[in-house]
Amino acid sequence: MSNVIDGKAFAANVRSDVARKVSTLKQDHNITPGLAVVLVGEDPASQVYVRNKGKQTIECGMESMEHKLPDTTTQAELVALVEKLNADPSVNGILVQLPLPDQIDADAVIGTIDPDKDVDGFHVINVGRLAIGEKSMVPCTPLGCIMMLKDHHGDLSGKNAVVVGRSNIVGKPMAALLLAENCTVTIAHSRTADLPAVCRAADIIVAAVGRPEMVLGDWIKPGATVIDVGINRIEGENGKSKLVGDVNFAEAAEHAGAITPVPGGVGPMTIACLLANTVTATCRQHGISEPD
Ligand code: NDP
Repeated sequence: MSNVIDGKAFAANVRSDVARKVSTLKQDHNITPGLAVVLVGEDPASQVYVRNKGKQTIECGMESMEHKLPDTTTQAELVALVEKLNADPSVNGILVQLPLPDQIDADAVIGTIDPDKDVDGFHVINVGRLAIGEKSMVPCTPLGCIMMLKDHHGDLSGKNAVVVGRSNIVGKPMAALLLAENCTVTIAHSRTADLPAVCRAADIIVAAVGRPEMVLGDWIKPGATVIDVGINRIEGENGKSKLVGDVNFAEAAEHAGAITPVPGGVGPMTIACLLANTVTATCRQHGISEPD
């Protein structure tokens, strides 16, 4: 049985680090980081995410600014709000909750966020900076994964890493982060030939596919580390719905050296990393080094 990586506990540590840094910023520099979250429409999952982000932002001592717009909002209205937030010095981080209603071009809106306030790390400037190894804002979910991997392994240099999934928000930035840690990286996707064999060569597997329990136990090299990003709701045995990842946890845990569960693995790290990114963005905007 493998070591189960406790993402909930890890995220609590990240949040307490953030709270400590925020308190130093207040005391030594009279700065309170501010995170603006924009929600357009009534999507129930997005409402829950935004509520949790606001709550955790305040718990860490930061300023939380929530902007709720109706689902009839036009692109021009949303862009105007983003531009106002860009110009507001009390706002250090801006997050536009996705998905957006059909009449709005999400890429165009993200493209108007000041890259230095883009705490989601989705602006093409940040994508480019990450790709060429420059200081950037790093997307929160892959950032959480790399933090857990570095904590577990220490040095990742020379490890064979397989990322299953090539989305812009998880798979590609995850691969860039692993490459920056000197892993030998393979990005697998829906056209990959013999995915089980590709996975069996991996010391590290990151699954970000969106297919319930797709990665099976015999795809895992004995002792490998498995990071499961997937969040899938399926019907459980009692007829009630339950959350599962992209990895068959029970099978994989028989082979892996370490594995993240779903829920309680990568999920809690995403908001914690958003808060950490907001502190990083604040320090960079003020030209001060981040407190230890
Ligand atoms: P996308 O749907 O954007 O991307 C899925 C990727 O998986 C694609 O690259 C696709 O390949 C690949 N894929 C699909 N089917 C297969 C297959 N049979 N074999 C191999 N590869 C396949 O998803 P996201 O990256 O946005 O999210 C992935 C998962 O992570 C989801 O479950 C999502 O809910 C979860 N997630 C969790 C977060 C968290 O906070 N923990 C945050 C973000 C996402 P192709 O490109 O060829 O189509």
